[in-house]
Amino acid sequence: MDKKLHLETLCIQAGYSPKNGEPRQIPIYQSTTFKYATSEDMGKLFDLEAEGYFYSRLANPTCDAVAARIAALEGGTAAMLTGSGQAATFFTLFNIASCGDHIVSSSAIYGGSYNLLAVTMKRMGIETTFVDPDCTEEELNAAFKPNTKAVFGETIANPALTVLDIEKFAKAAHAHGVPLVVDNTFATPINCRPFEWGADIVTHSTTKYMDGHGSAVGGCIVDSGKFDWTKYPDKFPGLCTPDDSYHGVTYTERFGLGGAFITKCTAQLMRDLGSVQSPQSAYYLNLGLESLPLRMRQHCANGQAIAEYLQSNEKVAWVKYCGLPGDKHHALAQKYLPNGSCGVVSFGLKGGRKAAETFMKHLELGSIETHVADSRTCCLHPASATHRQMTDAELDAAGVGADLIRLSCGLENAEDLIADLEQAIAKV
Ligand SMILES: *Cc1c(COP(=O)(O)O)cnc(C)c1O
Repeated sequence: MDKKLHLETLCIQAGYSPKNGEPRQIPIYQSTTFKYATSEDMGKLFDLEAEGYFYSRLANPTCDAVAARIAALEGGTAAMLTGSGQAATFFTLFNIASCGDHIVSSSAIYGGSYNLLAVTMKRMGIETTFVDPDCTEEELNAAFKPNTKAVFGETIANPALTVLDIEKFAKAAHAHGVPLVVDNTFATPINCRPFEWGADIVTHSTTKYMDGHGSAVGGCIVDSGKFDWTKYPDKFPGLCTPDDSYHGVTYTERFGLGGAFITKCTAQLMRDLGSVQSPQSAYYLNLGLESLPLRMRQHCANGQAIAEYLQSNEKVAWVKYCGLPGDKHHALAQKYLPNGSCGVVSFGLKGGRKAAETFMKHLELGSIETHVADSRTCCLHPASATHRQMTDAELDAAGVGADLIRLSCGLENAEDLIADLEQAIAKV
């Protein structure tokens, strides 16, 4: 088919086309290993000379089909699944940055990603400069160093709910000869496709909306194939010079711009560090992908209705939702997220930290979970959970005040959810 297919169709059809008599649904290849007739046959696979499967840490047909579906949704050239969103973020950055290198990141990112960059990768000798996502171009450009290897941000930040000016970040990254990596977890490709705005690599925690049912932890990395590593061979020797650990293969030469990044990430990082997604988890993820456009519509409608309700409640001090006309990021949302953002709303109650705790205790439909972005409404107080390692100053810099309640609107009926909020707020 030549015609460019719509996202709803890709969610159902992309990545897997069974031949005559083969299963209609993506089969679960629950097998660690694959059989070959001769050692030569298998040797070609190890040399990356023939395509095929030999061990599920490196590739598995179920995972590959689901990765190909996500690549199609994002408009990328290649993708790989990982065991979690954290692994996707780490693999992506570590695939191009090594000890002695530097990363520029938005300060408004997921708490786990912040920790990964600020603490764990720093211990590995990779330093990060955090910038306010709403900074000027001048401030952004000033964050770069000669050893900067990537720029990182989230389309819609979890839990700050700021909207990334992807074009601004892409422009700065490209002016300094490095790729922009965007974590597109909250928007999903249904609501934003960062490659269309200049991003080079997209990461996902598929644990969230993509799986959508709270069933399986997972991650995904998608490459646009657009970043030309060969223009900066000194910056990206891992992609542009022979890999001694893989029979001297030069990834950009052998796999082209469309395949180099993901092949290196699989052949080196997955080989050495593990973190695969299991075929069973990939199967659950795929079930979620099939209904993703329908679900995102309902999550966004509920998010909008609840944000509007909260804004009208006099016990509510503030509401953060980019779908609200007065929101600081409303203009960016209209540009990058014209069909809706996500179902996550942040707000604070008059009475701060204490009021947040009382309110959450009395919710009946909404449950307290560290999770977000699945079918069941849930909420979290980040300052006492996911972000508890951070100081108040760091919390403020990340856009996560001590009073912030993150409410993830599920797929329930909006009137029922609002009634639940109303009775819980009344008890504050
Ligand atoms: C949850 C989350 C992650 C981490 O994903 P896991 O699947 O929990 O490892 C990364 N980025 C964002 C935006 C997230 O919401």
